[in-house]
Amino acid sequence: NKFEALGLGEAIIKAVNEMGFETPSEVQEKAIPILLSEDTDIVALAQTGTGKTAAFGFPLIEKIDVNSRITQGLILSPTRELCLQITNELKNYAKFCNGLRTVAIYGGASIQEQAKEIKRGAQIIVATPGRMQDMINRKMVNISNIGYCVLDEADEMLNMGFYEDINSILAHTPEDKNTWLFSATMPKEVATIAKRFMNDPKEITV
Ligand code: AMP
Repeated sequence: NKFEALGLGEAIIKAVNEMGFETPSEVQEKAIPILLSEDTDIVALAQTGTGKTAAFGFPLIEKIDVNSRITQGLILSPTRELCLQITNELKNYAKFCNGLRTVAIYGGASIQEQAKEIKRGAQIIVATPGRMQDMINRKMVNISNIGYCVLDEADEMLNMGFYEDINSILAHTPEDKNTWLFSATMPKEVATIAKRFMNDPKEITV
């Protein structure tokens, strides 16, 4: 199995087989072995539809300690739709990872309900920046122990004016986390984010 060769464990391989994925996509082939085996930041240039959700989702799931309920991974994405889509994908990928909870946080829905979901335990949070910042301000969420932060569609998030939110959200995360940035394009604003918040990132292009 070509996914096993990337270093993925049994539970994810089982999900991969059930989803019918036969071959890793290019971004998966390039990103997964690095993210599984190295404590490194990465910048990956990849469009939607290239399988990038699994490229960060598989390794992130592998890194989670399901015996701990604290939030260990944060994924920031530009829109509610994308946020829900990523959450759904992660739930499929983690179908055989018992005890792993992924919670979506986004605007335009009840913040109290989302706070309740977080309180039940969420090792992975998938969030839009505005709502995430709001929940941090209200102390409804704690990201001070995360080991991994994914910035998905970073170019879109910056286009939508989320720079300040991203800036202050990242200020609530530990220095020693790893940041995985995915973007379809590399305008200078994205390069600025990479420079400011990341530590000697490896670069992947597909
Ligand atoms: P994404 O680029 O992450 O939005 O993924 C696009 C679609 O491709 C999603 O529906 C995934 O479930 C699917 N997908 C991701 N990786 C693979 C793969 N290796 N083989 C087949 N389908 C995949």
